[in-house]
Amino acid sequence: MCRRRNRRRLCLWLLPAGGLLGLVAVGAPFAAAALFLAVSALFVYGTLRPASRLFGPHDRELGAAQAARGEVWITFDDGPDPVTTPLLLECLARHKVHAGFFLIGDKARRHPEIVRAIAAAGHVIGNHSQSHPAGRFWSLLPGAMWWQIAGCQQTLTELTGRAPRLFRPPAGHHNPFVAAPLESLGLKMVLWNCRGFDAVQRDPRCVLRLLEFSLKPGAIVLLHDGRVHSVQLLEALFMALARRSLRPAVPSSLMS
Ligand SMILES: [Zn+2]
Repeated sequence: MCRRRNRRRLCLWLLPAGGLLGLVAVGAPFAAAALFLAVSALFVYGTLRPASRLFGPHDRELGAAQAARGEVWITFDDGPDPVTTPLLLECLARHKVHAGFFLIGDKARRHPEIVRAIAAAGHVIGNHSQSHPAGRFWSLLPGAMWWQIAGCQQTLTELTGRAPRLFRPPAGHHNPFVAAPLESLGLKMVLWNCRGFDAVQRDPRCVLRLLEFSLKPGAIVLLHDGRVHSVQLLEALFMALARRSLRPAVPSSLMS
């Protein structure tokens, strides 16, 4: 069933190629060029824009019930990190908050004790690919895509004894080959709708300003583990949430 659906999805993307060849064959080069540009633009939009659903479904916010209760979900990408993850865990425990950690398989293998500490503290662990090829994830072919997603899934399952149920692609990029491994492994793709670009922005005040701009009930907040200001930002985020009467929570609506 999954394979049939994936084949259908791929065929949809092969149709324009057939049309292109047809237009060239009947001597309509301008129409062929226009079709090529339109399909290329659509492909770029679908792969590089995280919010795009061209290559499969994903969630970017919590469900309506959680939003109505003023809940948000705090998530960290790119861990585990031997320095900052333990500090984040300590900060989260002090605030009695459960967050989400989208872990990179290769890093998890290097720091298994930290992965187990995250799981033991009751946080959600998600799959964030095996080696995090952020610059070329959008261009991976089926074999490499499977290795990235299934490899990380196997790593995290071995380390925690539980298979992750959520996947977040590196840099939020996708392509036509993401859906098949997700369906085979029972993974749901989860992105975000609130971020402050903390992976590139060095000034935590700027990050917080950007975060506050889209902080609202039901938000999924994207932060990054392993940055110099990861812990400082988390503390500042807690204060921002309190000012808005928002409550950090686990994503029950996504896990069901
Ligand atoms: Zn990442």
